[in-house]
Amino acid sequence: MKRYFKDIWDSFYTIGIGMGVTFRHLFTKSVTIQYPDVKLELTDRARNRLYVNMDDCIGCDQCSKACPVNCITIETVKAVPPDDLGVTSTGNPKRLWVTKFDIDIAKCCYCALCVYPCPTECIKMTDVYEFSEFDRHNLLYNFSTMTPAEVENAAMKFEKWQADKAAAKKETTDKKKAAGEKPQPKKQETGDSNKNNPPDENKSES
Ligand code: SF4
Ligand code: SF4
Repeated sequence: MKRYFKDIWDSFYTIGIGMGVTFRHLFTKSVTIQYPDVKLELTDRARNRLYVNMDDCIGCDQCSKACPVNCITIETVKAVPPDDLGVTSTGNPKRLWVTKFDIDIAKCCYCALCVYPCPTECIKMTDVYEFSEFDRHNLLYNFSTMTPAEVENAAMKFEKWQADKAAAKKETTDKKKAAGEKPQPKKQETGDSNKNNPPDENKSES
């Protein structure tokens, strides 16, 4: 009988404690928010989705080399005269067409190691953290602003430039040959080297 009344007392007592805690929190500031209608303010150095400002990218590949999970793929083509790509907002000259700049954000671990070495500060973390997808292929971000036709054109120009350069070099060599210029003879080894390899020894080897 005693145990029966004790159990009843414990039940009311524990409910009272719980209600006391609830009542206390009625008058304290809430620690939860009504996400997604309300969002917390992020700290300055929060790491979220990456963004690349291609206007300032010089295709140096530093970010890709720094990435520990190889999720950045960059391909470039050298710009040849008369193309002038100008300079970045930081004053760095642009010499390469960035034909491909992909980040597989599904692999990214948000370490920000790609951000620090960038000489033009064009790759950075944003405050965007809601970018989930049903299809993981949609997490492969293409940042290059060049169309396939522009990429092909840049590649063709570079190949032509290389071919022209090789042809010009060959022409110069041919002209020199035609003018009777002979290549400089190699210096014959004398002195110490002969001491190390006496004539008799060489003869016996042959
Ligand atoms: S944040 Fe880290 S993992 Fe993500 S792309 Fe940059 S270096 Fe690679
Ligand atoms: S380090 Fe910066 S400039 Fe160099 S390829 Fe990466 S994003 Fe472009």
